[in-house]
Amino acid sequence: MSRKIRTRFAPSPTGPLHMGGVRTALYCYLFAKKNNGDFILRVEDTDQTRFVEGAEAYIFNCLAWCGLEPDESVLKPGEHAPYRQSERKAIYCQYAQQLIQDGHAYYAFDTPEVLDFHRKDHEANGKTFIYNWHNREKGRLVNSLVLTEEETKSKIEAGETYVIRFKSPQDETLHLKDIIRGDISIDTNVLDDKILFKSDGMPTYHLANIVDDHLMEITHVIRGEEWLSSTPHHVLLYRSLGWESQMPAFAHLPLILRPNGKGKLSKR
Ligand code: GLU
Repeated sequence: MSRKIRTRFAPSPTGPLHMGGVRTALYCYLFAKKNNGDFILRVEDTDQTRFVEGAEAYIFNCLAWCGLEPDESVLKPGEHAPYRQSERKAIYCQYAQQLIQDGHAYYAFDTPEVLDFHRKDHEANGKTFIYNWHNREKGRLVNSLVLTEEETKSKIEAGETYVIRFKSPQDETLHLKDIIRGDISIDTNVLDDKILFKSDGMPTYHLANIVDDHLMEITHVIRGEEWLSSTPHHVLLYRSLGWESQMPAFAHLPLILRPNGKGKLSKR
């Protein structure tokens, strides 16, 4: 039996809704409705530093004004509630732990100062610092891949700040499909080990987005092209979580640019 079509619009409440965002929501809505499916509105509010008071209500009102009424949302909870990511922290924690246990993620204790030093040091030599297989186990970075289990445990227990990183694979060509862009190949050696959990105990967009799209049974991810570069990480996350066979289809929409072509159309 084919799955019910489910799309989602997943804005972060970081300010007014962008024209490009409204268009993404419109496409998600139209695609769902054309296919007798559901259109879900999920609030991606895990980045506390970018939280803007009132932005969430503004987004809800904007969509209502446009007539894009979600089938499931914070205001109309369905079986996959809650629809606000800040209320789903325990769920993400569980999957981050699963990834660590299965060897797909690890704890990293490097301070922002140390990472900044490596970045500058690389820059000075005309290189770009990427935290991945190149250097994660070479001794200059401090993570659970180089520490013993006891050392890692005692650092965590001592209250040292850490993040959880995804262990991106080495020497692989990843093949992705995008409904708009077609077939895409990517060399995994250029991918960084994305942070899945931040030092403030909140998940990053990458982890929360994948977990929720899976649990909310999203079949089609329709979003702006700025997320295309994150898609290889997302595909790898699906694979590492054992969800590859239920992975949604991706459609990355071209951005709406300023009339002069320089940058995105401004929010104002
Ligand atoms: N929270 C992301 C945003 O603000 C969602 C991107 C996506 O649709 O995956 O655009």
